[in-house]
Amino acid sequence: MYFPDLSPYSYGKGIVEVGVYNVGWLSSARDYSQGPCPEGFLARIDQRAQSPVNLFRGSHLCEFCPPPETEIRNGMEIIKPLPERMGDGEIRVVGRDGAVYAAPVMIAHYIREHGYLPPRQFIDAVFEDRPPSDKPRLTIGVIGDDDKTRLLATLSEIANQPK
Ligand SMILES: [Zn+2]
Repeated sequence: MYFPDLSPYSYGKGIVEVGVYNVGWLSSARDYSQGPCPEGFLARIDQRAQSPVNLFRGSHLCEFCPPPETEIRNGMEIIKPLPERMGDGEIRVVGRDGAVYAAPVMIAHYIREHGYLPPRQFIDAVFEDRPPSDKPRLTIGVIGDDDKTRLLATLSEIANQPK
Protein backbone atom coordinates (compact mmCIF):
# COMPACT_ATOMS: atom_id res chain seq x y z
CA MET A 1 0.00 0.00 0.00
CA TYR A 2 1.66 3.21 -1.14
CA PHE A 3 1.04 6.73 0.18
CA PRO A 4 3.41 9.66 -0.39
CA ASP A 5 5.12 10.97 2.74
CA LEU A 6 3.14 13.74 4.46
CA SER A 7 0.03 13.19 2.33
CA PRO A 8 -3.29 13.40 4.25
CA TYR A 9 -4.16 10.11 5.91
CA SER A 10 -7.16 8.24 4.60
CA TYR A 11 -8.57 4.77 4.67
CA GLY A 12 -11.44 2.96 3.09
CA LYS A 13 -13.13 4.89 0.32
CA GLY A 14 -11.83 8.42 0.69
CA ILE A 15 -12.38 8.71 4.43
CA VAL A 16 -9.87 11.31 5.58
CA GLU A 17 -8.67 11.73 9.13
CA VAL A 18 -8.08 15.44 9.47
CA GLY A 19 -4.64 16.46 10.70
CA VAL A 20 -3.15 12.99 10.23
CA TYR A 21 -0.35 12.49 7.71
CA ASN A 22 1.24 9.45 6.12
CA VAL A 23 4.87 8.60 6.74
CA GLY A 24 6.77 5.57 5.47
CA TRP A 25 4.14 3.84 3.34
CA LEU A 26 6.73 2.83 0.78
CA SER A 27 6.39 0.96 -2.47
CA SER A 28 9.06 -0.62 -4.61
CA ALA A 29 7.48 1.21 -7.56
CA ARG A 30 8.39 4.63 -6.09
CA ASP A 31 11.55 6.37 -5.04
CA TYR A 32 11.91 7.21 -1.38
CA SER A 33 14.29 9.40 0.59
CA GLN A 34 17.35 7.62 1.89
CA GLY A 35 20.03 8.48 4.40
CA PRO A 36 21.23 7.82 7.92
CA CYS A 37 18.73 8.51 10.71
CA PRO A 38 19.89 10.32 13.87
CA GLU A 39 21.43 8.30 16.69
CA GLY A 40 18.81 6.64 18.87
CA PHE A 41 15.97 7.14 16.42
CA LEU A 42 15.53 3.52 15.41
CA ALA A 43 15.45 2.39 19.05
CA ARG A 44 12.52 4.72 19.64
CA ILE A 45 10.73 3.42 16.57
CA ASP A 46 11.28 -0.17 17.70
CA GLN A 47 9.83 0.68 21.06
CA ARG A 48 6.72 2.21 19.54
CA ALA A 49 6.31 -0.69 17.13
CA GLN A 50 5.76 -2.93 20.16
CA SER A 51 2.31 -1.46 20.63
CA PRO A 52 0.82 -0.69 17.23
CA VAL A 53 -2.54 1.03 16.83
CA ASN A 54 -5.19 1.14 14.15
CA LEU A 55 -5.18 -2.06 12.22
CA PHE A 56 -7.38 -0.65 9.46
CA ARG A 57 -4.87 -0.93 6.72
CA GLY A 58 -4.17 -4.58 7.36
CA SER A 59 -0.83 -6.30 7.19
CA HIS A 60 1.96 -5.35 4.87
CA LEU A 61 4.71 -7.26 3.17
CA CYS A 62 8.02 -5.62 2.38
CA GLU A 63 8.16 -5.02 -1.37
CA PHE A 64 11.92 -4.45 -1.39
CA CYS A 65 12.90 -7.82 0.01
CA PRO A 66 12.85 -10.93 -2.20
CA PRO A 67 9.41 -12.57 -2.27
CA PRO A 68 8.83 -14.79 0.77
CA GLU A 69 8.98 -18.57 0.56
CA THR A 70 5.75 -20.35 -0.08
CA GLU A 71 4.55 -23.82 0.68
CA ILE A 72 1.63 -25.79 -0.63
CA ARG A 73 -0.82 -26.88 2.03
CA ASN A 74 -4.07 -28.63 1.12
CA GLY A 75 -3.63 -27.48 -2.45
CA MET A 76 -3.28 -23.83 -1.38
CA GLU A 77 -0.15 -21.76 -1.65
CA ILE A 78 0.75 -20.34 1.77
CA ILE A 79 3.19 -17.44 2.05
CA LYS A 80 5.77 -17.75 4.80
CA PRO A 81 7.27 -14.26 5.23
CA LEU A 82 9.95 -13.60 7.80
CA PRO A 83 8.20 -11.87 10.70
CA GLU A 84 10.30 -8.70 10.44
CA ARG A 85 9.36 -8.34 6.78
CA MET A 86 5.69 -7.94 7.43
CA GLY A 87 3.76 -5.80 9.82
CA ASP A 88 0.34 -5.08 11.20
CA GLY A 89 -0.90 -1.72 12.27
CA GLU A 90 0.63 1.69 12.73
CA ILE A 91 2.79 3.86 14.85
CA ARG A 92 1.24 7.26 15.57
CA VAL A 93 3.35 10.21 16.60
CA VAL A 94 2.22 13.71 17.57
CA GLY A 95 4.18 16.64 16.17
CA ARG A 96 4.85 20.07 17.63
CA ASP A 97 2.02 21.71 15.70
CA GLY A 98 -0.47 19.02 16.70
CA ALA A 99 -0.14 17.15 13.43
CA VAL A 100 -0.28 13.39 13.83
CA TYR A 101 1.98 11.16 11.75
CA ALA A 102 0.83 7.64 10.95
CA ALA A 103 3.54 5.18 9.93
CA PRO A 104 3.28 1.44 9.34
CA VAL A 105 5.14 -0.68 11.91
CA MET A 106 7.16 -1.82 8.89
CA ILE A 107 8.89 1.56 8.99
CA ALA A 108 11.44 0.06 11.41
CA HIS A 109 12.37 -2.54 8.79
CA TYR A 110 12.50 0.07 6.01
CA ILE A 111 14.91 2.19 8.02
CA ARG A 112 17.06 -0.71 9.18
CA GLU A 113 17.27 -2.72 5.96
CA HIS A 114 16.51 -0.30 3.17
CA GLY A 115 18.05 2.98 4.31
CA TYR A 116 14.77 4.88 4.45
CA LEU A 117 15.01 8.39 5.87
CA PRO A 118 11.62 9.67 7.11
CA PRO A 119 10.67 13.37 6.86
CA ARG A 120 12.28 15.75 9.35
CA GLN A 121 8.96 16.58 11.03
CA PHE A 122 8.40 12.93 11.83
CA ILE A 123 11.90 12.42 13.24
CA ASP A 124 11.52 15.51 15.45
CA ALA A 125 8.11 14.33 16.64
CA VAL A 126 9.48 10.90 17.59
CA PHE A 127 12.23 12.50 19.69
CA GLU A 128 9.89 15.02 21.29
CA ASP A 129 7.45 12.23 22.14
CA ARG A 130 4.28 14.23 22.78
CA PRO A 131 1.29 12.44 24.28
CA PRO A 132 -1.67 12.01 21.92
CA SER A 133 -4.33 14.70 22.11
CA ASP A 134 -7.61 13.76 23.76
CA LYS A 135 -9.38 16.15 21.42
CA PRO A 136 -11.62 14.05 19.18
CA ARG A 137 -10.48 14.02 15.59
CA LEU A 138 -12.78 14.84 12.74
CA THR A 139 -13.23 12.10 10.24
CA ILE A 140 -14.83 13.11 6.99
CA GLY A 141 -16.12 11.34 3.94
CA VAL A 142 -15.04 12.93 0.70
CA ILE A 143 -16.60 13.37 -2.73
CA GLY A 144 -13.72 14.45 -4.96
CA ASP A 145 -10.11 15.55 -4.67
CA ASP A 146 -10.92 19.25 -5.10
CA ASP A 147 -13.51 19.07 -2.34
CA LYS A 148 -11.02 17.22 -0.20
CA THR A 149 -8.41 19.93 -0.58
CA ARG A 150 -10.93 22.68 0.15
CA LEU A 151 -12.37 20.88 3.13
CA LEU A 152 -8.95 20.15 4.60
CA ALA A 153 -7.92 23.78 4.17
CA THR A 154 -11.07 24.98 5.92
CA LEU A 155 -10.79 22.49 8.75
CA SER A 156 -7.15 23.25 9.42
CA GLU A 157 -8.02 26.96 9.55
CA ILE A 158 -10.67 26.23 12.16
CA ALA A 159 -8.30 23.97 14.07
CA ASN A 160 -5.58 26.62 14.11
CA GLN A 161 -7.76 29.44 15.37
CA PRO A 162 -6.71 30.66 18.81
CA LYS A 163 -9.11 29.58 21.57
ZN1 LIG B 1 12.55 -5.46 3.22
